[in-house]
Amino acid sequence: MIGKYRDSGLKLTPQRIAILDYLEGNIEHPSADDIYKAMSKRFPTMSFATVYNTLETLRRHGQITELNFDPFKKRFDPNPSPHHHVICVRCQKILDVKNAFLLKPPRIESEEFEIIGNHIEFYGICSKCKPR
Ligand code: ZN
Ligand code: MN
Repeated sequence: MIGKYRDSGLKLTPQRIAILDYLEGNIEHPSADDIYKAMSKRFPTMSFATVYNTLETLRRHGQITELNFDPFKKRFDPNPSPHHHVICVRCQKILDVKNAFLLKPPRIESEEFEIIGNHIEFYGICSKCKPR
């Protein structure tokens, strides 16, 4: 794991290693706040700004992606493979949609684009939030 990040030219401070460790294999799509809370158990002096700046650096180096469906609470995803998401509109739980499916974008008339990726957000109500 560490080797992979070293190759990206990212300097590995103990804080960055701790955050990467926490995110590795994490499927919860944690927010900066969630990550900060988890970090302060191990690094009581680590500030929120450090966590936030570290996440920003990791994002710039392509190590994590940012999910912006809630602009006030960005969520972070360490899963590097392209995938879609389904989001519970009540509790904001986010799950990966692993099934790949073919998407044919509509023709864009004014300019020719080479499509390099896509990301779909499905909205719903999870089983925990669904009234029974
Ligand atoms: Zn829910
Ligand atoms: Mn994901």
